[in-house]
Amino acid sequence: MSREACIAERFRPFGASIFAEMTRLANQHKAVNLSQGFPDFDGPDGAKQAAIAAIHAGHAQYARMIGVPDLNRAIADSWAARGYGTIDPEANVTVTSGCSEAIINTLVGILNPGDEVIFFEPYFDFYTAGAAMAGATPKFVALHPPRKGESAFWLDPNELRAAFTPRTRAILVNTPHNPTGKVFTREELEMIAGLCREHDVIAITDEVYEHLIYEKSLPHIPMATLPEMWDRTITLSSMGKTFSLTGWKVGWAIAPPHLSAGVRAAHQFMTFSTATPLQYGAAAAIREPGDYSVRLRELFASNRDRLSAALRDCGLIVHPSHSTYFLMADHSPLGFADDRAFVTHLIEKIGVAAIPPTGFYNRKELGKPLVRFAFCKKAETMDEAIKRLRALRPAM
Ligand code: GLN
Repeated sequence: MSREACIAERFRPFGASIFAEMTRLANQHKAVNLSQGFPDFDGPDGAKQAAIAAIHAGHAQYARMIGVPDLNRAIADSWAARGYGTIDPEANVTVTSGCSEAIINTLVGILNPGDEVIFFEPYFDFYTAGAAMAGATPKFVALHPPRKGESAFWLDPNELRAAFTPRTRAILVNTPHNPTGKVFTREELEMIAGLCREHDVIAITDEVYEHLIYEKSLPHIPMATLPEMWDRTITLSSMGKTFSLTGWKVGWAIAPPHLSAGVRAAHQFMTFSTATPLQYGAAAAIREPGDYSVRLRELFASNRDRLSAALRDCGLIVHPSHSTYFLMADHSPLGFADDRAFVTHLIEKIGVAAIPPTGFYNRKELGKPLVRFAFCKKAETMDEAIKRLRALRPAM
């Protein structure tokens, strides 16, 4: 039996996770790991204490399928406190094992084989894998790199409109956006919302970086809060990025009851429920966030600026990032064959790991000139990466 034959056809096109591969190579070559997006420091104490207390209190059995009541309530309260509207913790909130599970639940739970789902490229690779699991057909709309004088990746309204067909069932919008650091503007979201209403399409949004925006002029706008969008939007998020607890894998879906039904239909057979003590920890963090995310944003904005300057000094074209853990840069001025060749050189010869982003593209050629760096690290980690990058020279 060949290895290939043992992988179901639906997963064969995806190969091994690029995040796992790059982290393994970073460890093997003792490179500073700016590839997979995770902080190299701990989350807030309150969350940890609450999770430990829940373990000691004997919260050891299956949680309720839709989430521990206290966490559903904390998520609903936080939504309301930010002015997004009053929601019902029971009918509208489903707790999942990270946003990743919420993405898969949503795609598998609402799409039928033959349905089309629109993704922007570059995309987080879970989206296309989820569409494959659902048997749905992905359609891609490019986010184009900023041209001279432009400050963000942009979408062409005509390309977006052309992607909608009578078979389109859903569009997935990730804002703030991994890997580009783009924050979708109100105008862009209104345009997408208009097309969803016109074609009777469901909007799925991935908002895990909602608290990590570094520009005051670019507020986070949930699609669900736009006119007539609540009834057709599933909002996905998590606590991992906000509280530097990516390994806790606590996420959620917020949706009207008819869309929650689709998410829950899959969730009950995917994981059934999420780790009970961690849900208590998550509830505590969401209720009492303190100034954790304020300090996190200060650190990451400074890291982003310092890394951008260092990469520019090396000759890369750095595309502005306004949010998330990441920035994208164009390495083509250095003359490497493609993103793989550049990242391999970076890891093996320079001692810094990054992500080659062709895996985030349907049209691979769009990813080849690019490289993604994570800046969600301690200042000292960034110092070391920046020091090592000084040795980077153009390819011979
Ligand atoms: N979201 C993380 C990133 O983009 C990786 C998640 C994962 O490893 N599956 O780096």
